[in-house]
This record gives sequence, structure tokens and C-alpha cells, in this order.
Amino acid sequence: MPEGAGPYAARLEALLRRIPDGWGRWVSCDAGWFELIVDLDAALSALDPDYRVEQVKEKFGTLRYYCTPTSEDADVWCRFDDLVRVAEDRSAETCERCGRPGRMCRSSMRWLKTLCRDCAAASGYVSPA
Ligand SMILES: [Zn+2]
Repeated sequence: MPEGAGPYAARLEALLRRIPDGWGRWVSCDAGWFELIVDLDAALSALDPDYRVEQVKEKFGTLRYYCTPTSEDADVWCRFDDLVRVAEDRSAETCERCGRPGRMCRSSMRWLKTLCRDCAAASGYVSPA
């Protein structure tokens, strides 16, 4: 279970069970995005209760949520795409550490991360002016 899962632990655990054997069963991002992730999972589950998750991670500073519906209904696939895109876009405005409003920041090593001002200052990231 990811660190800081707190109130989201049970729902994150349910999400991890969607990942097939042979894939890593973890969520590779910080706790600030957990609410976003469990909300997305709830919306996707409502469309397709048995949908599959391949990977949930941070990449280039924003959320990536890789999943596949079990349904063959094209409408379900479109709605999956839309829901995932909206959540990934929201991650670009949500501090990955604490969940408050954030923006893309950069470390001296040129790592990108979406952070609020306080979390950026605390971890050596700077926000482009
Ligand atoms: Zn923060």
C-alpha cells in the first residue's frame, strides 16, 4: 500500500486488484493525487465494473493512468478516454504531495513535478515565473 494512503487505502487497494498478475501492483505517485485517482476509479467502475488497470504513475510531472475496459462498446471506450484525460489534466494543477492547487515545477536536476508553492519550497523545486 502506498505511503500516506490514509482514507483512500481501501479504495486504492481495490484499484490495485484490477492490475493483472505479472504487472507491478503499485501506484507510483505521491499522496496528493490519491483523491483524484480514487475518484477516477469510481467513475470508470461505474461504466465498466471489471475494467483492467495496467499502470498508475507520475510521468513528466503529471498523472498517467493506463487502463482497458472489458466492454466492447465503443461508447464506453470513448468515455474512458475522456475521464482519464480529465483526471490527467487535473493532475497538472494539483500538488502531487498535498493535493492543494499546484503547478509544474522543476528541480535543479531538471525533474518535473506538479507542486504547490510550499511543497516546492520544501523539496528544492522551483516554479517557472
Ligand atoms: Zn503541496
